[in-house]
Amino acid sequence: MHLLGPDRVLTHTAQLVPYSYDATPFYQCMPQAVVRPVTAQEVARVLRWCSAHGVPVVPRGSGSGLSGGAVPVEGGVVLDLKGMDRILEIDRDNLTATVEPGVTTLRLGEEVARYGLFYPPDPGSYVVSTLGGNVAECSGGMRGLKYGVTRDYVLALEAVLPSGEIIHTGSKNAKDVAGYDLTRLLVGSEGTLAVITQITLRLLPKPESRRTALALFDDMQQAAHAVSRILQDPIVPATLEFMDRTTLEVVEEFAHLGMPTDVEALLLMQQDGPAPVVDRDMERMAEICRREGARQVRVAADEEEGQRFLAARRATLPALARRRPTIVLEDATVPRSRLAEMVGRIQDIARRHGVQMATFGHAGDGNLHPTALADGRDAQERERVQLAFADIFQAALDLGGTITGEHGVGLAKAPYMVRRFDAATLEAMRAVKRAFDPQGILNPGKIFPPDHPEERR
Ligand SMILES: Cc1cc2nc3c(=O)[nH]c(=O)nc-3n(C[C@H](O)[C@H](O)[C@H](O)COP(=O)(O)OP(=O)(O)OC[C@H]3O[C@@H](n4cnc5c(N)ncnc54)[C@H](O)[C@@H]3O)c2cc1C
Repeated sequence: MHLLGPDRVLTHTAQLVPYSYDATPFYQCMPQAVVRPVTAQEVARVLRWCSAHGVPVVPRGSGSGLSGGAVPVEGGVVLDLKGMDRILEIDRDNLTATVEPGVTTLRLGEEVARYGLFYPPDPGSYVVSTLGGNVAECSGGMRGLKYGVTRDYVLALEAVLPSGEIIHTGSKNAKDVAGYDLTRLLVGSEGTLAVITQITLRLLPKPESRRTALALFDDMQQAAHAVSRILQDPIVPATLEFMDRTTLEVVEEFAHLGMPTDVEALLLMQQDGPAPVVDRDMERMAEICRREGARQVRVAADEEEGQRFLAARRATLPALARRRPTIVLEDATVPRSRLAEMVGRIQDIARRHGVQMATFGHAGDGNLHPTALADGRDAQERERVQLAFADIFQAALDLGGTITGEHGVGLAKAPYMVRRFDAATLEAMRAVKRAFDPQGILNPGKIFPPDHPEERR
């Protein structure tokens, strides 16, 4: 209490419950306290105290994570960073923005748009997700194919080490290779190495125009071929998303776009940039989809209709949530040439385990979101869902893919790390963790497989 004052330290059970889980089903653990710092110095003070007393600390943004990263699995203190929400600078000369970690992705996007600028990473949760959470998870989104993911925009960070020391990594310079690239190391470190307290991000000029289209296919293979042909053309669309039949049915029921629901796959395509280039690419993409057998291609009449197509894709999770009580939205990536094969494997695995599964995702990135529709209160169904996902992650690895493309490892994927990496590589990661956090107090229990208790030494 004496560290920040009683109004910014929560200890009553009713206050703690909202911090005992995030958006990942099946994980819940109570913290002993929640603290709400508003400066890096306050974060440092809390971390120094926790270090001295061996108390676990879990940084938290909005709690929209889908791998259990913000769940205080070993209790301790949750550090609620949403109060650090100032946009400190928009530097139009250097095309950068410097923000505190609690600023939401949406707010930054809206703010920079006022200056004709653009911050591309757009996780589906962008209305609530914080930039601190985006950096900690290296979040992606629907623009990843053309614009990359969060790591491609982080230039510099201020962060607090578990010891309470404040470090500064990177700089605003377009070129800077001085020393180890600690910025890259901290991006995607899931709150296990340091608490990020300030972020400098690269911005781009806002694209002049954009157009959006949908293509509907009777066969997932056709849609996957269309994706390959578009990229071979070569066109790099701003967005190239897909949905399978189950997802499409549910989204249509929710968003009323007037789409037929008896098709096997939908592609959502968007291009942005100068109008003549956008028009040319749109025509070519539509033509490729028709050639590959699309039953229907629908180019949005205007920006507003395009936004409705995109909003429907973004509404996938709430739309699916209307079907069953528990929605387990997972994340696996394969080389994009194996996309159709992976969708087929997911369908087979779901059938084998008796699990209702919808699959959608970022076709251009090979990043799929197989999503189980279940009832978590039914222990047997829950078990079947977990077994199905274990098989799905193995299938992704067998196809040369990975266990997570954007949601992070957290708790949910930690058991699969031994399948993803060899022992020497995992040990190198552990050595990094020990160098930053020798006592193991920062977000314990995350990333590393649970059968290695030495992590808490
Ligand atoms: C509907 C929905 C759609 C989503 N769509 C996408 C998507 O398209 N792409 C995608 O990549 N993800 C997506 N996500 C997942 C999630 O929103 C992202 O991972 C997001 O970046 C998390 O931000 P947050 O502020 O909620 O972080 P939290 O959930 O609070 O925390 C996430 C992790 O970051 C750590 N952390 C948070 N802040 C800091 C900090 N300042 N310093 C150090 N560590 C910190 C936490 O300890 C935790 O490990 C989606 C989630 C939902 C619910």
